[in-house]
Amino acid sequence: MVKAIAVFPEAHEIRLVEHPEPQITQPSQVKLKILEVGVCGTDRHICALAFGTPPVDSEYLILGHEALAEVVEVGEAVTQFRPGDLVVPEVRRPCNDPDCRACRAAQQDFCYTGSYTERGIQGLHGYMATTVVDEARYLHPVPAELRQVAVLTEPLTIAEKALVQALQIQDRLPWRTGSATNAEPGRGLKAVVLGAGPIGLLGAMLFVTAGFETYVYSRAQAPNEKSAIVEAIGATYLSAETTSVEQLTERLGHIDLVYEALDAAPLAIEVLHNLHRNGIFIFTSGTDPNHPFHIDTANAIEHITSKNQVIIGTVNAGPATFQSAINHLSIFQQRWPQVLPALITRRYPMEQAKEVLLKKPGGIKHIVSIA
Ligand SMILES: [Zn+2]
Ligand SMILES: [Zn+2]
Repeated sequence: MVKAIAVFPEAHEIRLVEHPEPQITQPSQVKLKILEVGVCGTDRHICALAFGTPPVDSEYLILGHEALAEVVEVGEAVTQFRPGDLVVPEVRRPCNDPDCRACRAAQQDFCYTGSYTERGIQGLHGYMATTVVDEARYLHPVPAELRQVAVLTEPLTIAEKALVQALQIQDRLPWRTGSATNAEPGRGLKAVVLGAGPIGLLGAMLFVTAGFETYVYSRAQAPNEKSAIVEAIGATYLSAETTSVEQLTERLGHIDLVYEALDAAPLAIEVLHNLHRNGIFIFTSGTDPNHPFHIDTANAIEHITSKNQVIIGTVNAGPATFQSAINHLSIFQQRWPQVLPALITRRYPMEQAKEVLLKKPGGIKHIVSIA
């Protein structure tokens, strides 16, 4: 048996369980010792029973999708991994529909049918367990020197996918064509990151690295631990408490790209209203459907059309994005050695996982240490 943190939706319960030890049953599989798992809003929503689905044959769902693991055993067809290797697993697994072009092209983050599965979220057990078995093709190798920070890979993939999408879309402008292959495609452009949680801060690091003049716009007044990180990476922190959206726009002159990771739709829409001509706005967080708010849609549409703007949503991330996130973590570590470790506020033993899953402590990123 292995130890795992599970949610029982029927019984409205979250607890440490003894789970049968998974075994390698296919030559393409890998047995993993889980080292660490990050906790995020998705886990807390599952624990609040807002969503999340156990596997069909189980009354509970093992939580956790932001994992770092060590290979302990490989199936006989696995040649790319050896025991001792560090790996980060992908979250989403393809649907079975032969007509789903996204899943058939191994881009299940774009799945058309919605009948994909996600480890720790929808239909598959997650990684808050001492031992897990996974298919080798969903695992990405991590250099040993990233052992302390690679648990941040999955949240960084959200920004990686957003940036790739933005660059591909901005290739519509003939004078920017090919920007996706440029080392600093953001040179001369201004990006605003909305929100200073882990997804926002990792996004800001990525945008700075891509050459954008980067601003992080968030609620809390500076100075605080998040504004300190923003300043350390050469970006600028502005608080919504002391700087209105109008003042933000005035200060920047124009906003070319907005990366929303705020979970506060009214403020996001206000910023959208101030997006520059040919600008792009990327939504990554949901909003609370129980708190609808008013938008002057006629005015919004007029802005979007007359300024050639693009608004996109993005969720999850594909295989290439995991690899680029791991590469960027190495770059961030070299460029700002203090910053990634400072994103991790606290590590909790499995026995205390419940307290960090049920209420959001202060700080930035909270991690459950499994081994
Ligand atoms: Zn997450
Ligand atoms: Zn699909």
